[in-house]
Amino acid sequence: MERNKGCALCPRACGADRAVHPGACGCGALPRVARVMLHRWEEPPISGERGAGAVFFTGCPLGCVFCQNGDISTRENASKHGGIYTEKELSDTFLTLAEDGAATIDLVSPTPFTDVLIRAVADARKRGLTIPVVWNTGGYEKRETVSSLRGTADVFLDDFKFLSPALSGALAGAPDYGEYALAALGEMIGVAGEPRIGGDGVMRSGVIVRHLVLPGCSDDSIAVIRAINESYGSSSVLLSLMSQYTPDFFRGTDDGRLDRSLRRRVTTYEYEKVREEANRLGFDGFMQERGSASASYTPVWDEPDNERENNR
Ligand code: SF4
Repeated sequence: MERNKGCALCPRACGADRAVHPGACGCGALPRVARVMLHRWEEPPISGERGAGAVFFTGCPLGCVFCQNGDISTRENASKHGGIYTEKELSDTFLTLAEDGAATIDLVSPTPFTDVLIRAVADARKRGLTIPVVWNTGGYEKRETVSSLRGTADVFLDDFKFLSPALSGALAGAPDYGEYALAALGEMIGVAGEPRIGGDGVMRSGVIVRHLVLPGCSDDSIAVIRAINESYGSSSVLLSLMSQYTPDFFRGTDDGRLDRSLRRRVTTYEYEKVREEANRLGFDGFMQERGSASASYTPVWDEPDNERENNR
């Protein structure tokens, strides 16, 4: 059954009949794809040697005031870019990306198109797709929607942004973000299992939690990783700690303190404080190179964990 009629796929549950008008995420009934590319700058086990087979969808259930993809993600812009893809065209696209050497199929901001993606992935697999499928999400997910991805998503790349309701309310218009994101993460771990990386370095299954440390908000970053550790244990996910925030895309907020701090980059002190806590809690994963505008990563800040070198 198609769930975009009276849509409640994401926690906004805006109830839109997207065949008639776009939902609060800006998405109509059919997937709109802004870009298809081999993407070399995802985390190393997602990009592999040749790049992740990224398919960028327009629209987003969140509305982050610092979004770097605002030209395709905001409600106003969601219908202005890219083109509509049918289920068959999506399936063809996945197969073409695999032929081009993609390590994974990387579905970016896919949630509003969950149902058609479940069918398109199944069709591509029937026609020979074998590489892992990555659900690359902003983390604002419902457990039921995540649960329906069993058999579709091998890997979740879960951008867990905030815990504080005040922060997520001010910056993403979603005071309930942390509550939903934490519950959804548990479901992702249930669906995808523990992190497993093949001998070729490509992730076969499991969850990578991404977290962008925001300037002036490192206490909330620490709260996020503590909550994940307390709820599920640090070994249940890989953690990708990002430092790439730049104020270039910041659209402003009514909160004076936040508004001032988000007009600068994150300091080394702020980032290191979060990294040290992640280390202390025993998270394994990736950190971004500091002082570089590029999104490059240093894999694994602790000793390699050979148990994760597990071929499928
Ligand atoms: S996915 Fe979009 S249309 Fe569906 S509930 Fe969320 S915001 Fe509304």
